[in-house]
Amino acid sequence: MTEKKDIIIIGGGINGMAIAGQAARMGLKVVLIEQNDLASGTSSKSTQLIHGGLRYLQQYYFSLVKKALHERSLLIKMAPHLIKPMHFIVPYYKESYLRRFIIRLGLFIYDHLSGHNVLAKAKSIRLNAAPYQSFFKKNIKQGAVYSDAWTYDSRLVVEWALLARQNQATILTYQDIIELIETENGWKVEVQDKLTQQRNTYEAKILVNATGPWVAHFQKQYLTQYPRAKMRLVKGSHLVLKQELPDDKAYLFECADGRVIFLTPYEPGYCLLGTTELEYQGPLDDIRVEPVEIEYLLAAANVYLQTPLTAEDIAYTFSGVRPLLDDGLHNAHQLSRDYQLQLQQSEKGHSILTVLGGKLTTHRRLALDALILLEKIRPSWPIIPHNRAATVRERYDEIIFLPGSEPLDEAQFKKSYSFVPTVILSRYLRCYGTLCLFWLKGKSTLADMGIDFGAGLYQTEVDYLLAQEWVKSIDDLLWRRTRLGLCMDEIDLERLKKYILTAVDSIG
Ligand SMILES: Cc1cc2nc3c(=O)[nH]c(=O)nc-3n(C[C@H](O)[C@H](O)[C@H](O)COP(=O)(O)OP(=O)(O)OC[C@H]3O[C@@H](n4cnc5c(N)ncnc54)[C@H](O)[C@@H]3O)c2cc1C
Repeated sequence: MTEKKDIIIIGGGINGMAIAGQAARMGLKVVLIEQNDLASGTSSKSTQLIHGGLRYLQQYYFSLVKKALHERSLLIKMAPHLIKPMHFIVPYYKESYLRRFIIRLGLFIYDHLSGHNVLAKAKSIRLNAAPYQSFFKKNIKQGAVYSDAWTYDSRLVVEWALLARQNQATILTYQDIIELIETENGWKVEVQDKLTQQRNTYEAKILVNATGPWVAHFQKQYLTQYPRAKMRLVKGSHLVLKQELPDDKAYLFECADGRVIFLTPYEPGYCLLGTTELEYQGPLDDIRVEPVEIEYLLAAANVYLQTPLTAEDIAYTFSGVRPLLDDGLHNAHQLSRDYQLQLQQSEKGHSILTVLGGKLTTHRRLALDALILLEKIRPSWPIIPHNRAATVRERYDEIIFLPGSEPLDEAQFKKSYSFVPTVILSRYLRCYGTLCLFWLKGKSTLADMGIDFGAGLYQTEVDYLLAQEWVKSIDDLLWRRTRLGLCMDEIDLERLKKYILTAVDSIG
């Protein structure tokens, strides 16, 4: 049987999911189809910054920076448990006054573009004093400190998925597209669940291609009669290092080749170093960190650090690919990070919206722009019974609270569940916000939490993730819903794998 929807979205990264969430909130009937896990593409491989992008000022991308800074201020309010303000230190390495002046001017403009900013303005900082004097090389005495924000990318995607589902969207992961055709009634897609082999068919007048780096591949496979997007794929790699950073701050390092890299806090006891930027033409399902990238990142950071980072500090690495708009002019690191939305109409009057480029930071605005564009196409846009549409300006400024963002008295929370070790409770708050009450409510002893899988993971959390957050494999749980993959040992891993396999089989 074919299920009628208003909109079919292909791709469960941040952009597809934000469009799904916003469309569902407006009252549209939404189905989102993802070939693997939520956020399994670029949206779990980012530097985790919610930022305007200080370095984009060098390329004069002022309007992108301004738009992204506006988004930063809204996103911090929208999901305060997942998006947190962070201070970034830029050390002055070269003792040139001109260089210092340029950095200070850039930061002044950055603060200015962020408008009525709730975050602290940039200022100078002494780096040859505690707690930095043993972190930086002796010749680094001063720097600047500015504000930006940090997030947990894959969980941000999952929370948009939860919001979409709360508004009746159908979210399907691990799906193969068996057929995608256009009929008189719209786009008809038949999908098969990779795990259960179950098939479903959906039909809608609007099709959204939000497949990120796969965008051109998707067009080539299913939409051959429409013009192909001009994209360039740029790979970026990160190193997760077993190191704590002083003062919980993040660091921006200028590299000799004119690029910048970031060293930021990650999970407790770990930090993140990235990223490289290399043109990429390899396979999208097997993106690897090359030894030359590891060398580049360590060497670039070690220009600044008193105790050099080495390959032995590396706990984990990951690599992702940015789909960037090809302007035919710039190098990989100079290409614009802005997005473009391509709207096409078929001869039968059905719409296809293709999402090109973008940043994690601008996902909310991208989704709004996508819907504002689609609304204008009357033949395919549905009549929504309870249209909550406000003016465009009001919609641009609207704060959409994500699930888990309800206010919570942290001290009271920790007291109420004091039978759970504090380090685990802190992780719950960092990852889930108030969503953790879902499995904590009614529990009063550790025995109530079920099997102890090690690394602070109890059965109740696993059961919640299986039932509520589309977890179907161990990687979904250990690398995208949590980052416990960093600290789980082999024996616990095997036990958990078996538990998940049995649970997924029984659900299927
Ligand atoms: C190294 C790196 C660092 C970055 N750092 C930042 C940062 O700090 N801040 C920031 O704002 N931005 C950052 N970005 C950019 C940001 O991560 C991306 O813009 C964003 O994640 C792209 O999201 P997306 O939804 O378009 O694509 P994706 O997350 O890749 O999602 C596309 C999805 O489509 C699915 N798909 C593909 N084909 C099909 C199909 N046929 N059927 C079903 N599903 C399909 C894929 O499996 C995938 O899950 C970074 C990017 C990279 C690569």
